Amino acid sequence: MSTSEALIVGLELGGTKCIATLAQGRTILRQQRWPTGTADTLYAMSEALALWQEDAPFTAIGIASFGPLHLDRRKPNFGRMGNTPKPGWAGCDIYGHFASRFAVPIAIDTDVAGAALAEGMWGASQGCAVHAYATVGTGVGLGLVVNGQVLHGHLHPEAGHVRVRRQPGDMFKGACPSHGDCLEGLVGGPALAARSPVPVADMPDDDPLWDRVAADLAEWTTMLILTLSPERLVLGGGVMQSRPLLLPRIARQSAALLNLYIDDLDSAALERLIVAPGLGADAGPLGAIHLGQRAANPDIFVS
Ligand code: ADP
Ligand code: ZN
Repeated sequence: MSTSEALIVGLELGGTKCIATLAQGRTILRQQRWPTGTADTLYAMSEALALWQEDAPFTAIGIASFGPLHLDRRKPNFGRMGNTPKPGWAGCDIYGHFASRFAVPIAIDTDVAGAALAEGMWGASQGCAVHAYATVGTGVGLGLVVNGQVLHGHLHPEAGHVRVRRQPGDMFKGACPSHGDCLEGLVGGPALAARSPVPVADMPDDDPLWDRVAADLAEWTTMLILTLSPERLVLGGGVMQSRPLLLPRIARQSAALLNLYIDDLDSAALERLIVAPGLGADAGPLGAIHLGQRAANPDIFVS
């Protein structure tokens, strides 16, 4: 069966929600979602998959999860969740949970790595040799693809937890349980909830909070451009999706911070480099699907 015909399951485990998707090629046929909750959600997901398998036998599973994740197949902790503060998830054997229940090839990577690959295959990063996908949602994360392969090393990039230069006058102490005012601690979901006097979804677009969020993110994107030199940097996730005003501000402020040090990266060029996901809200689910396709076709997608 070719890559485009096979039925593939993609599991996206996010900071707030978990989504199971059944797809053929990039066409989504079925989807079910759960609040992330505790790791017991894995049982709900595998029960749903067992039902799907009866009438839609799938050939592989791709898991795209929040991290930190252990992804070195040579190590005994492969496929396990690392030291997340999310209740009940630290150390959880995500890969093993599904591998012990489903006799199909399974791939696991970070949610942002999956989304980066999907954007490279089908979305905004097509044709780019070096490209990245960042999520700004409950958490902040980054997946980097170089020549079709995701960057892993000692672990995988955890670029949302770097500290960026603070904005003058911003006294917020940060909401990251590990680092306080790292970038995720400034602009991730819990940080926005703490900084906003009303539910964050009710904050008007002209509130000064969004100036701070754009400025913090511009410090980060400038650093990413200088350190990784991506041809495309896709910014997705719930915060970016629901606040379209942020993207052009981040591109413009990145241009100001770079100050033409890279001479062809002016404001207009940065608006073409820093972009919204071509796949929209499907970047995450299709990232998991693409990881499943890679598991089903290891000869095509050497990893
Ligand atoms: P996940 O982190 O589970 O992958 P998302 O990427 O969709 O999920 O991000 C969810 C986050 O998006 C929430 O924690 C919240 O901070 C943010 N969000 C949702 N709606 C809005 C909104 N209208 N304005 C700003 N932020 C929002
Ligand atoms: Zn942190």
